[in-house]
Amino acid sequence: MEFAWTPEHRAFRQRLRDVLAANLPDNWPVVSNGYDNGSDASVAFSRKFCPILAEEGLLIPHWPKENGGGGLDAFHHWILGEEMWGVGEPRAYQYMSINWVGPAIIKFGTPEQQAEHLPRICGGTISYCQGFSEPGAGSDLAALRTRAEPTGDGRYIVNGQKIWTSAASFADACILLARTGAERHAGISMFIVPMDLPGITVRVIPGMQGERAMHEVFFDDVEVGPECLLGTENGGWKVATEVLANERIGVPRYALTWRGFNKALEHLRLDGRLENAAIRARAARCEAALKAARLAALGVINARIHHRPADVSVNVARYAAVWADRQVVEFLGDFAGDLLFYDVDAVVTAAYKRATSIGIGAGAAEVQLNLVSRNLLQMPRGNA
Ligand SMILES: Cc1cc2nc3c(=O)[nH]c(=O)nc-3n(C[C@H](O)[C@H](O)[C@H](O)COP(=O)(O)OP(=O)(O)OC[C@H]3O[C@@H](n4cnc5c(N)ncnc54)[C@H](O)[C@@H]3O)c2cc1C
Repeated sequence: MEFAWTPEHRAFRQRLRDVLAANLPDNWPVVSNGYDNGSDASVAFSRKFCPILAEEGLLIPHWPKENGGGGLDAFHHWILGEEMWGVGEPRAYQYMSINWVGPAIIKFGTPEQQAEHLPRICGGTISYCQGFSEPGAGSDLAALRTRAEPTGDGRYIVNGQKIWTSAASFADACILLARTGAERHAGISMFIVPMDLPGITVRVIPGMQGERAMHEVFFDDVEVGPECLLGTENGGWKVATEVLANERIGVPRYALTWRGFNKALEHLRLDGRLENAAIRARAARCEAALKAARLAALGVINARIHHRPADVSVNVARYAAVWADRQVVEFLGDFAGDLLFYDVDAVVTAAYKRATSIGIGAGAAEVQLNLVSRNLLQMPRGNA
């Protein structure tokens, strides 16, 4: 597959680079610790930077104009993602609002919900977290047990626990999946819950992903009004499926890995390690994997632009990104372990840490492989 960017795409990329050059502090890799989206510094910066992007018309290029976007094609969104992830994602978690929370509100929200949320998303002034996973419900998300008990007058009382929730300690609202009925998939509803409601407790889970990358969120008798229900009662699975499809292929995370990989190569070139042909061959393999991940993702975007229904190529693209990250992780571990061990370069270390988790973070890689084996390779189900 061969891509040729149009002059408009190239000009858009250049504008993004200009805005980044004008706004990122010179010591941004240090300020952001390579990539630590939950740190106080990164969150504070994103709160300044997203409204600037919005002001420049660069925050949501691909949404329809009537929803506050720029009305441009989805490649613009991808270019935006590549440029942002390629410098360590200075929007912090704002990309969640743009990539999947906003689109879900556009598709399933009431006019009141749209009026409340969309202008704030388009202005870059609101951020969300995603309360899906639970201690007993990850890949098997429909096993979730957090309960939103209808009170009979349109309100709900929420009780339960979420885990691994990115951004929870600084998000304004949570898109929450909770059980409202008995049936496994058809007994789940989606809510948009303000994070400052009484009864919500957030605890940071310390980990190598960064200062405040993951959290546990507890809901104890949290009273939620009817205005929080997104979609219909017990119709949350449909909303979640849409959200997850946009999450899985909505973010060019390979750009972050590529940046760390390139930085590592600079170090290896300087100290002569790249003169070793075996190391160069492994580096070439990483480069090829990253390029394949990029092409697979661009193929999916191309299909979207041409209104082709989502198919197994989404799972292939997601796995290609996981594969590329794993190649780079192995390369760094084998040939640049000292850079990681002594934390010589925050950009390299951050890319390594992030890449190690990609196979689980936005949905387990093995589950994607199951779908590829069934839907592309037509392999039979079972243990054989
Ligand atoms: C960096 C990061 C950020 C995250 N942010 C969020 C967030 O903001 N909100 C949120 O709700 N969740 C978030 N998560 C959680 C993430 O969605 C889950 O970790 C993921 O869905 C996997 O669920 P689990 O951890 O319960 O693992 P499990 O589902 O228990 O999987 C454990 C292992 O079993 C394998 N496995 C499971 N099922 C199958 C199968 N059917 N076939 C083959 N192998 C299988 C998996 O591949 C995996 O290796 C985040 C996770 C990470 C790492």
